[in-house]
Amino acid sequence: MKTFCGRANPTTGSMEWLEEGEDYDYHQEIARSRYADMLHDKDRNVKYYQGIRAAVGRVKERGEKAIVLDIGTGTGLLSMMAASAGADFCYAIEVFKPMANAAVKIVEKNGFSDKIKVINKHSTEVTVGPEGDMQCRANILVTELFDTELIGEGALPTYEHAHKYLVQEGCEAVPHRATVYVQLVESKRMWSWKKLFPVHVEAEDGEKILVPPSEMENCPGVPSVCDIQLNQMPSSDFTTLSDVVTMFSVDFSKPVQSASTYYRVQLEPVKSGKAQIVLSWWDIDMDPSGMINCTMAPYWVKPTSALQWRDHWMQCVYFLPNEEPVLQGEKLYLTACRDEYSVWYNLQKAREGENKADEEEHKADVCVESPVCRCRAHLLWNRPRFGELNDQNRTRQYIESLRKVLKTDSVCLCISDGSLLPVLAHYLGAKQPSRIGLYHPHELWQAFFKANHLEDKIKIIEARPELLKPSHLEDKKISVLVGEPFFTTSLLPWHNLYFWYARTAVSAHLASNVTVLPQSASLHMMIVEFQDLWRIRSPCGICEGFDVQTMDDMIKDSLNFRESKEAEPHPLWEYPCKSLSDPQEVLTFDFTKTVPQHCLSTEGSVNLSRKGKSHGAVLWMEYHLAADISVSTGLMQISNEKGNCEWNPHCKQAVYFFSSVIESEILSDPTAVTYAINFDTKTGEIAMDFKL
Ligand code: SAH
Repeated sequence: MKTFCGRANPTTGSMEWLEEGEDYDYHQEIARSRYADMLHDKDRNVKYYQGIRAAVGRVKERGEKAIVLDIGTGTGLLSMMAASAGADFCYAIEVFKPMANAAVKIVEKNGFSDKIKVINKHSTEVTVGPEGDMQCRANILVTELFDTELIGEGALPTYEHAHKYLVQEGCEAVPHRATVYVQLVESKRMWSWKKLFPVHVEAEDGEKILVPPSEMENCPGVPSVCDIQLNQMPSSDFTTLSDVVTMFSVDFSKPVQSASTYYRVQLEPVKSGKAQIVLSWWDIDMDPSGMINCTMAPYWVKPTSALQWRDHWMQCVYFLPNEEPVLQGEKLYLTACRDEYSVWYNLQKAREGENKADEEEHKADVCVESPVCRCRAHLLWNRPRFGELNDQNRTRQYIESLRKVLKTDSVCLCISDGSLLPVLAHYLGAKQPSRIGLYHPHELWQAFFKANHLEDKIKIIEARPELLKPSHLEDKKISVLVGEPFFTTSLLPWHNLYFWYARTAVSAHLASNVTVLPQSASLHMMIVEFQDLWRIRSPCGICEGFDVQTMDDMIKDSLNFRESKEAEPHPLWEYPCKSLSDPQEVLTFDFTKTVPQHCLSTEGSVNLSRKGKSHGAVLWMEYHLAADISVSTGLMQISNEKGNCEWNPHCKQAVYFFSSVIESEILSDPTAVTYAINFDTKTGEIAMDFKL
């Protein structure tokens, strides 16, 4: 079997479909999976084990045989826990073939082959009966099918089916129940991920304000979940407007309904403010009494308890359809609507003198459809991109740089996706800025221009850079070529070097004294110690007494399959780390010249100047807009003497994990890491190698 994998080519900016063998997909799946992270989640593992022991105990106490159904067994971990706890037999279901194979090996290695039967099927395909996959229905249902939104991985339909066909009535379930919590907040930072704020431009002829069109103002946005490491959001970045409220619970030991429904709670704001965001997380009780509880609550909810770091379960940010001013103590209703796989929220004010009957009446209009972007801006700009466009500091740097180079007769061309730079250029004096890049859909830009009276002031050129014709530019030469640069297809920081390729492709249209902004870019690198992120790539070995090395080997194999010597993108503002070396500029890219034919490579060594564990190298790009103005898409600053790093909150950085970690303890004899980095101008990719 062959699969086709889409990948943007950083030299052409367009998607290419590469034919890959059958193995490719699953190696990707394993290498980038969260299995390692789950196995490192001590809190989760310990509590599952406690819950499973208790459930087996209860069944045995009733004098019954303990027959376990483990849906989504992965490594087989929860089944092995059940078998160790005295279960008589376990059916371990796993739909993903490579994982099911691994589970068989792991179960065998740990000596449980006679107690655990691994079944490589989706649970809805499993049969029960003398000839079936299972001899009889189970009386203990164990699963771990949850994502950050709880239901996004299909837990509800899976449970619904299991209760109908695979388990006995009155069965034990581990977890026994899940509860979803919410808190209403005001947060300019998080709201800036959904709304475009007005952009202020100080122009020669007074202040100009760029405003979003009304379609955008009232758009509910996109339904995809926004899951983040909320524990990295400082309390100064939001104001809580309500207490933490229980939104809904699911009892997994009883029949579960997956059909769309809604839940409604009454709220009284503890503070007046603008309701914009619903923060949400869940917990699971492993036993009916709720004594064994595993929670995703963020740091401010139970400040005394130790937080377990995990990346497979985080917290959710939901955006209300509109900002709603609320008063302390007033009566509000918050509604969570859900379908089988996702949840969305809306807020309503209780009407004056409302009674129970009225309440019933307007229940009908609370359950609105799942959010669908109508303005289309949310399809062009994802949430970090909204945040970036709303970053006033960043905008100011571009404005200042543009002001330095634009003249009233400038012929300006912008190459970047969905960029506001041409509008800034227009306000700052350019006659008729043009733009190339992703500017679909047109309705959005027409509305945008109309709202700002810019209809005939900016021209969108629908041509790829290499197909640009003099007629597109009214036979004029480009005097100012600008880019942020930003392209939606970029995965790693250097993929935005597509700007350089595009600049090369339009060379014939550039005036001899053209100004290119940014004039250059540079690649920077630093060795770091991660507080937690190292776990996702670190072998586990023994997990709660079970040997899961087979899984470690499998992950290692998959990482080496294709992705070796490759970095991976991570938004490091969510993953604290400290610098162990000084940041170092390793390559520069001169946009005033065309892309050279030859590769750009560099070798060198970097001294470890701080004690710590070298988990890997972080790489990012910086763009030099003017002599004294640069923007960093990576490191913003090293904030203290401990080396804690502050990262650009809108961008992903490249992380290259070292295959082995070195601990530098003695600094009198500084350890050095040597590196070799190669930018292949033919492919636009960067390969790297580090020696410790
Ligand atoms: N139980 C393991 C792994 C959990 S990850 C542990 O706790 O460590 C969830 C696994 O469930 C994945 O491997 C996924 O492939 C599998 N899965 C999800 N839904 C399933 C279903 N309905 N039937 C079978 N497998 C499923």
